[in-house]
Amino acid sequence: MISFNVPIYSEKGIEYAQEAIRARHISGDGQFTKKCHEWLKQDTGAKYAYLTTSCTHALEMSAFLAGIQPGDEVIMPSYTFVSTADAFVLAGAKIVFVDIRPDTMNIDENKIEAAVTAKTKAVVVVHYAGVGCEMDRIMAIAKKYHLKVIEDAAQGTKASYKGQALGTIGDYGCFSFHETKNYTMGEGGAIIFNRDEDAERAEILREKGTNRSKFFRGQIDKYSWVDYGSSYLPSDMNAAYLWGQLEVADEIYDNRMAAWNFYHESLRELEEAGYIERPVIPEGCTHNAHMYYIKAKDLKERSDLIRYLKENDIQTVFHYVPLHSAPAGMKFGRFHGEDVYTTRESERLVRLPLYYGIDIKDLEWVVEKMKAFYNGRSEG
Ligand SMILES: *Cc1c(COP(=O)(O)O)cnc(C)c1O
Repeated sequence: MISFNVPIYSEKGIEYAQEAIRARHISGDGQFTKKCHEWLKQDTGAKYAYLTTSCTHALEMSAFLAGIQPGDEVIMPSYTFVSTADAFVLAGAKIVFVDIRPDTMNIDENKIEAAVTAKTKAVVVVHYAGVGCEMDRIMAIAKKYHLKVIEDAAQGTKASYKGQALGTIGDYGCFSFHETKNYTMGEGGAIIFNRDEDAERAEILREKGTNRSKFFRGQIDKYSWVDYGSSYLPSDMNAAYLWGQLEVADEIYDNRMAAWNFYHESLRELEEAGYIERPVIPEGCTHNAHMYYIKAKDLKERSDLIRYLKENDIQTVFHYVPLHSAPAGMKFGRFHGEDVYTTRESERLVRLPLYYGIDIKDLEWVVEKMKAFYNGRSEG
């Protein structure tokens, strides 16, 4: 069976994790965490970067930093992972879902403004598949209505919009290093931002509401409980495993990109024949080969395709079931405007196997079977 995803196996990561253990520093903010922080800052150009225990937790931190209060409204797409909404629901917000664009599956920047009310506090954008949202327009709306912008860049490491790294355009950017993402520490993530005023608050939030980070830097002689917070810092063992990959981030990127490009070129003829749609990368967006998806005609055809590929030892998966249709989505949110594309497009989408080190023969097999499926259809 060709798996949809295989988490990165990093010999270097193992070595570094052992090193963290031998150094007797396995809790948070050790040498490897610091290396990851430096890498994140350098790679994105953000002034501040902190590893977290997950992207979900990075989003939670951003909700607190953005000052979300009970009763505030937060605008986001419905086509996203549950965490995007969860983090803001925990802060007491009401979620206002708006429709997506069919080409990128990202929030439709032209439908945001109509969803703004006096209670709207923030917009959360999701850069689906590491392809940037239309940030110029979104930032202009945010400016006009004094809204915070949080970028769920869980899938967006090493991707950019008009030359700016995803995660650095809005107020806060959140990455995921879950094992399904391009770089992984098992469970983990990061928050990045630029404003000095947020730095102290972020450190306190991440360290259980204490100013322990300041204490460790020798800036104060004892630390105390100064505000509310949680424990958002990951173990240095996990950071060490991640560091083994960030060190060779370009190699991992190139490898994934080669696989992505192979699919994209090889499946062109199926698109030209009108069978499928391939992903669209708008001008100005540089993606990171996080995901290769295609769109079938409809739900029925997608189910047939997934089944056919499975019979041929290929594991493919669909993606998000729109949040507004889930029980919690109905409880905590509402959909503003008409759901033109969210449900329809999500039902057509299927993701193909793509991971670091995937065998070219496996890619060829997937393409061959994709073609066989559609050619079989046209004949019968
Ligand atoms: C993976 C993902 C998350 C959650 O990341 P965790 O690190 O597992 O918390 C959130 N949002 C999006 C868009 C994701 O793809």
